[in-house]
Amino acid sequence: MTGTISQSITDPGAGSAAAPTPSVETARRSTNLIGETFPRPDFYAVDDLLTPEERAIRDKVRAFADREIIPIITPYWERAEFPTELIPKVKELGIMGGAIRGYDCPGISPVADGLISTEMSRGDASVSTFFGVHSGLAMGSIYLCGNEEQKRHWLPRMARLEKLGAFGLTEPYVGSDAAHIQTTARRDGNEYVLNGAKRWIGLGHIADVIVVWARDEENGGKVAGFLVEKGTPGYEATLMAGKLSLRALGNADITLTDVRIPVENRLGNSRDFRDTGRVLTATRYGVACGALGNAMACYEAALAYATRRQQFGKPIAGYQLIQQKLVTMLSEITAMQLLCWRLGTLFGQGKMTPEQASVAKLNNTTKARAIAAMARDLMGGNGILLDNIVIRHQADLEAIYSYEGTAEVQTLVIGRSITGQQAFA
Ligand SMILES: Cc1cc2nc3c(=O)[nH]c(=O)nc-3n(C[C@H](O)[C@H](O)[C@H](O)COP(=O)(O)OP(=O)(O)OC[C@H]3O[C@@H](n4cnc5c(N)ncnc54)[C@H](O)[C@@H]3O)c2cc1C
Repeated sequence: MTGTISQSITDPGAGSAAAPTPSVETARRSTNLIGETFPRPDFYAVDDLLTPEERAIRDKVRAFADREIIPIITPYWERAEFPTELIPKVKELGIMGGAIRGYDCPGISPVADGLISTEMSRGDASVSTFFGVHSGLAMGSIYLCGNEEQKRHWLPRMARLEKLGAFGLTEPYVGSDAAHIQTTARRDGNEYVLNGAKRWIGLGHIADVIVVWARDEENGGKVAGFLVEKGTPGYEATLMAGKLSLRALGNADITLTDVRIPVENRLGNSRDFRDTGRVLTATRYGVACGALGNAMACYEAALAYATRRQQFGKPIAGYQLIQQKLVTMLSEITAMQLLCWRLGTLFGQGKMTPEQASVAKLNNTTKARAIAAMARDLMGGNGILLDNIVIRHQADLEAIYSYEGTAEVQTLVIGRSITGQQAFA
């Protein structure tokens, strides 16, 4: 079941109908796999708000997704297998570690880093999440919560993708209530002994280093991060099966049984769960940007399809109900783009709050999910074929909607900040 969107969108009743020339889109256009061009959604000219460096990074990653991800991803997704052939190619892009300054990381702006998430996700969300786990969650934890020695040791190697990282917070019995994880770390001489279990851990089965969040018994049971290296006795990871979202990304169930690590592996600057929260605030911005990419992919595919698919003697794009869907999609995407740009700018100025990140995560994942459903609907029966791209994004958005804090949790975070009332429990 390999193939491309272009094969499918040119099949059904392509006829002689010429694609309309939208008068209000910006002039910038995307090229699909058979060289057709169609408008890239940028209705409010957000491009003009970007610096030349940000535009260059966006264009580089967009071209990468068009050339390297989209043509190959479908069979990998179907087989639930990650396209490892992409790893050396992403390494060449030099984008891992994104906005981290120093430590051989790119040190780009958060806006540029967000654009990377958007463009990668427009290609495929499993691929984007794979690198997001490594670059955002794992490297971000070490950068924000590690001491100088830990940063110097790990970050350059991880930026070069010589070492792959994972992030282990969620547990079989603790998801949204992450401040109350049960995994423990007990000090024993020059070592910590870790016991517990983790679930849903992206790359947990292959990572060279996993940031395990556990209760530090020596520090009153407060949550801290611990670096567990691949091969450490007592660390067992099992690939989760039967996942119908983000299929190309491997998630692991992990058990930690008397896992001994040197005391130096406790993240030096992780004091309590608020530090874990700082990592999640940054990555929720990335998730919001990623969801925008999924939404753009669905809109672009739906628009291209609507201009070619003919029913009742003309392209379906000529019917009001179809236009309404396309207009709704574009309006939401425009709002999502502005949210991402503004939040990224605040991030770069050191002003982004957790609640602002929650608004973007909540809004963009909710809207992207709705856009994917509309795009699938617009394609009729063809909408459920993997070759037509949309169903993959729609399935993937189910995970993205839930991970890094569900919609309900983001709502409670925002609700607490505007009312002063905590409504979690
Ligand atoms: C594909 C995928 C990849 C992931 N990758 C990672 C990873 O790499 N590392 C990691 O640590 N974790 C990872 N996660 C875990 C993810 O962060 C959790 O799934 C998420 O935080 C939600 O937790 P949960 O699934 O246990 O749901 P639960 O917390 O059990 O929630 C179930 C439902 O109850 C609702 N709910 C919970 N509490 C409340 C409340 N107080 N009020 C109202 N409603 C509430 C939730 O919103 C949800 O609808 C991943 C998850 C997925 C699906």
